[in-house]
Amino acid sequence: MERALVDGRFGPLESARLHKDGRRIDVLMTGARFTGADGRPYVWIIDNDISERKASERALLVAAEQDRLTGLANRAVLTRRLDELIERHARDPSQGFAVLFLDLDRFNLINDTLGHEAGDALLIQMADRLSDIANIVGADGAVHESIATRFGGDEFIVLVAGIRDADAAHAIAERIHATLAQPYRLPQRAVQSTVSIGIAMGGLSHATPHELIRNADTAMYEAKRAGRGVTVLFDDAMHDRLTRLVRIEAGLRHAVERREFTVLYQPIVDLSTGRMTSVEALLRWRHDELGSVSPVEFIPVAEDSGLIVGIGEWVLNESCRQWAAWQAQDPARAPAGMSVNLSRVQVAMGAPLIGMVGVALAKAGMPASALQLEITEREVMKSSAGALPLMQSLVALGVKLAMDDFGTGASSLGCLREFPFHTIKIDKSFVTDLASNPHVMAVAHATVRVIDSLGMTSVAEGIENPEELATLQSLGCRYGQGYLFAKPLPADQLLAAMGGV
Ligand code: C2E
Ligand code: MG
Ligand code: MG
Repeated sequence: MERALVDGRFGPLESARLHKDGRRIDVLMTGARFTGADGRPYVWIIDNDISERKASERALLVAAEQDRLTGLANRAVLTRRLDELIERHARDPSQGFAVLFLDLDRFNLINDTLGHEAGDALLIQMADRLSDIANIVGADGAVHESIATRFGGDEFIVLVAGIRDADAAHAIAERIHATLAQPYRLPQRAVQSTVSIGIAMGGLSHATPHELIRNADTAMYEAKRAGRGVTVLFDDAMHDRLTRLVRIEAGLRHAVERREFTVLYQPIVDLSTGRMTSVEALLRWRHDELGSVSPVEFIPVAEDSGLIVGIGEWVLNESCRQWAAWQAQDPARAPAGMSVNLSRVQVAMGAPLIGMVGVALAKAGMPASALQLEITEREVMKSSAGALPLMQSLVALGVKLAMDDFGTGASSLGCLREFPFHTIKIDKSFVTDLASNPHVMAVAHATVRVIDSLGMTSVAEGIENPEELATLQSLGCRYGQGYLFAKPLPADQLLAAMGGV
């Protein structure tokens, strides 16, 4: 054929054809349109069979969008789907959707006790159940975009489309809790597990996929704190809270080297004589931008991030150094004892903590008997027997131990004898209730007596007025601390205050 007038090339274009043998083949098509010598239009096409290449491309694509372990869609798919839903919601606000962020509760425990294979098996079975739920949700007509995805590790995200409000999202979360609570058959044995779920509703002011996921994650974090196995819906206040926590953690990282910490010392007073006998070291933090942050707020952040280890070591060294400095300055007025708070994370350190305490004492030239370490009742009860060897080593070192905040946890008087405590600090809430509640009075009376009979010393915390003092004295409580005597003081004001106490 004569190709006179070429009036257009096209391609290469990918297309698919049916092969003679009925097979579908992928082709790369190149061609041209031209006008023949006869004046009629013709098309000239060359097909290249690219089926093999396309097949491997498709496999790669599936692999790129699939989580390898569970076969669920992965983050890439999630982000794309979220983009679509956000766009659709912008056009039609009736098209609501929700991001459900799931995190397994105590997954580490399964991994640590049953091994990683069991952990993997659990994740796979969970994934299957989740994708069943997403399919059911997706079966109600318009809501077919619901998908379950693995976000990473033990985190899953279920994207629920076509729902109207948060109630609907909560209902689905309940269904997820119920389904995932059924036992799992793992190689060694059956286990049960729960998840914490955070929900972020689509169509809020935060519109990017990243922000929605982050919000759902924030809510999930709150769900964990609320007690695991529960669902929490994201709100903006939660976001502000988290932002502050992140800033606190970032600030704490450099707080020691930037000399932002100080220690205040609150006198502990002999209630029968009014004489100050020892002090409790209380940490203070002043951050450039955040200002003063209370230990009640920053200690938990330091614990969660592990930063408490370094910070606690600093407090220990600083308090021991200060104790020795007072002794050198004015041995008559200097406090005989120094009480330092220990975090549960420090207690969990075991042997290295003993080393740390030993070093702090040696550097300061302070006798071990002058140091008392406070561990809160809650932590003692939580770690129960686990903390006992450490406590015994500390006692062997010559250090005294105090149970802090007694009366706030679940411990009974009976378990006091199981631990080598020298001192029991009765929590402020107990002291505050004394005047108003005769029942508390009776309990406090028994408490002080038991502490006495065990050869331990009672210290009442947070004494604010003379009535509380009088009551505690009548109960036979030996020591106390509180604003009535002195607030926590800077080191350079302590000796002066001693005279007055
Ligand atoms: P805590 O060990 O039970 O310390 C007693 C808390 O009660 C201190 O609060 C103290 O300032 C406060 N307080 C004392 N007397 C009164 C009173 O009469 N009325 C009232 N309303 N409060 C009184 P602070 O200094 O804010 O410390 C809070 C908690 O932070 C401490 O409770 C302790 O658990 C923790 N903490 C403080 N410093 C450290 C530290 O260096 N390491 C660790 N791990 N925790 C610390
Ligand atoms: Mg304390
Ligand atoms: Mg306390």
